[in-house]
Amino acid sequence: MSKEVHPEVREVTCKSILVKSGLCDYALNCYTGCQNACVYCYARFASRFQHGQQPWGTFVDVKVNAPEVLRKQLARPRTYPGTVFVSSVCDGWQRLEEKYQLTRACLAPLLEAGFELHILTKRTLLERDFDILAGRERVEVGLTVTCADEALRELVEPDGSPTAERIETLRRAAKAGIRTYAFIGPLMPGITDSQENIEALVAALATTQIRYAYADRLNLRWGVWPALSAWLQQHRPNLIPHVKAALWSAQGQEEYERALRQRLTDAARQAGLKAEIKLIC
Ligand code: SF4
Repeated sequence: MSKEVHPEVREVTCKSILVKSGLCDYALNCYTGCQNACVYCYARFASRFQHGQQPWGTFVDVKVNAPEVLRKQLARPRTYPGTVFVSSVCDGWQRLEEKYQLTRACLAPLLEAGFELHILTKRTLLERDFDILAGRERVEVGLTVTCADEALRELVEPDGSPTAERIETLRRAAKAGIRTYAFIGPLMPGITDSQENIEALVAALATTQIRYAYADRLNLRWGVWPALSAWLQQHRPNLIPHVKAALWSAQGQEEYERALRQRLTDAARQAGLKAEIKLIC
């Protein structure tokens, strides 16, 4: 079970919904803020001007005119079809999407206009949209997996779907004829990077038909360390020196990355995972 997070919700309008992105040609985010409330979230920077010091996960702005704005953007001659990352600074299938259905409303217009969708989510609500995504050549669906242990998962990603259910969504996607991949991480020192956790995640992924996986070591992007250190103080105070050493010292980082890469390779071999795991550093 997920632990339902209740953010302050504002309905807002946007001027543009398909924006240039470093991850793909474009990114589509129908929400500012994310109800999944992951402790390590890299997307905090995206709302720093609108929401200042308001803690991540406690607010979500819902871009209620997103489908309408998208239709207008797609009609412009200078909007060239390309790859679209869905979503880059929120989870497009966070719980509020059950009610608003904004991400869903954008999928078919994008596909019909010739865009290629690269989807990443932590929620099984994605399955609702398999009717649009199934059998399409220009679609790739990814699920993030971080913690095999559910008690830890709930502390780290409170309103994400349970990991076992995400794995099941990957299986169902493949069965529906959708190309799949996985995102493992972030693997946080002393928290989610244990051998036991890595082996359990990789073994679960070996039961799916993912084509490849990315693994991410934690990067201290804007706002991550204050949130993570507060979490550590509350839940794992004894780990603070270890986490700092792994994340802050240049030498520590190099050794850490080398060992992590090796451990992922070994776990994949042991589990019989054929898909390549690429470590993002
Ligand atoms: S699902 Fe993604 S965007 Fe949402 S809180 Fe987690 S890491 Fe951030």
